Amino acid sequence: MTRNYRGSCLCGSISYEVSGFSSQVANCHCSMCRKFHGSAFGTLVSVTGLNWLTGKDHLKDYVGSNGTVRSFCAECGSSIGFRVKDSPLESIELAIATFDEDIPVVVDAQIYTNYKANWVTLHNKITSHGEGRDS
Ligand SMILES: [Zn+2]
Ligand SMILES: [Zn+2]
Repeated sequence: MTRNYRGSCLCGSISYEVSGFSSQVANCHCSMCRKFHGSAFGTLVSVTGLNWLTGKDHLKDYVGSNGTVRSFCAECGSSIGFRVKDSPLESIELAIATFDEDIPVVVDAQIYTNYKANWVTLHNKITSHGEGRDS
């Protein structure tokens, strides 16, 4: 018996459910994640069984200079997710903080720490990578 986990944006227009999660989740300190999330770092998770429940038409895409696509709620501006260039919406990695409940994931890395804000303290119990996971 599998169960679904639900998430939504701040205004509630957009809601979704998923049935599974990637085992790898990282806090990303790159400047694009910081700005997109409006926070110290961004945390995104790959999911399986994504189903948009409401408000899929409220999703607005921002395409970055490198072709990466970031989706947010056109009503409230909540960051919803990220996907690589030219990939379908179904491949979106979700902004983990938009889940409405506890989810079975563990953040196992902090990445692009070379670009972190000076006022952020890194976790000393999570593996750090100055660039991506392979660095
Ligand atoms: Zn919204
Ligand atoms: Zn990033």
